[in-house]
Amino acid sequence: MAIILDGKKLRDKILDNLKDKVASFQIKPKLVVILAGEDSASKIYVENKRKFAHKTGIISEVINYSSDVKESVLIDKIKELNNDQSVHAILVQLPLPSHISKDKVINAITPEKDVDGFTPYNTSKLFSCDIPYVYPCTPKGILLLLDEYGIDIEGKHAVVVGRSQIVGHPLAQMLLNRNATVTVCHSHTKNLAQITKTADIIISAVGKNIIKGEMLKSDCVVVDVGIFKDESGKLSGDVDFDSSSKIASYISPVPGGVGPMTITSLMLNTVELFEKTL
Ligand code: NAP
Repeated sequence: MAIILDGKKLRDKILDNLKDKVASFQIKPKLVVILAGEDSASKIYVENKRKFAHKTGIISEVINYSSDVKESVLIDKIKELNNDQSVHAILVQLPLPSHISKDKVINAITPEKDVDGFTPYNTSKLFSCDIPYVYPCTPKGILLLLDEYGIDIEGKHAVVVGRSQIVGHPLAQMLLNRNATVTVCHSHTKNLAQITKTADIIISAVGKNIIKGEMLKSDCVVVDVGIFKDESGKLSGDVDFDSSSKIASYISPVPGGVGPMTITSLMLNTVELFEKTL
């Protein structure tokens, strides 16, 4: 049976240390989250961010807008926050209402306060193997989890399933920067199982039940980023846990794997941005 990559346990360990660090600061780091619209999942994510910021001693503020908010209102608010010295980190909760350009809004955040690492400046730094202000939260959390369990990345064949801007694509680059041999799969990939069978590390970020035990190489490491409700309304990941945990050497559960690591990275990134201002 595979060893569980326990994201909750690592989250608690890292945030306990971070709390002590934050307590030692005279001025406290401040995270501002912008939420536009009524998406129920977004509201839960934002509340979770607020909760963990509070636990860690980070000041957090959530600015709510209705779903018909104008794009220019969000951009003007971001410009105001960019110039507010008490604010160290700005996050725009995605998805935004469909009439708003996500890129225009994200691009308005100054890179020094871009806590998700999504602005063109930070992305271009990442993809040119240079150092961004901070790394995107979910990929960063995944690497922290692999490192905690002593899983070697260098020289390994890492297969990333999914190529989104927030997970798959930056993660593939971060694995490449750590000298993995990286294959990125997506919805046009043919013979997915043939590729996953050659993976030492497989990380799936799709949002569908797509990875089964028979698609894995013996003793590989499996990280499940996906989190969604299946047809019966049950919370699920991309990976069939029962069949995969019999083949893999390590596996992350859903929930309790990558999710807690994403929130951990958000707190770490907030503090890193704050420290860069000192
Ligand atoms: P996304 O933007 O919808 O991207 C999904 C990716 O999966 C796309 O690149 C898509 O390919 C690919 N894909 C779709 N069907 C496929 C198939 N049959 N075979 C191979 N690839 C396929 O999703 P996302 O934002 O990255 O999120 C993915 C999942 O991770 C979701 O369940 C989300 O809730 C979860 N998530 C979890 C966390 C966390 O902290 N736990 C954080 C972020 C996301 P194309 O590019 O070709 O369309």
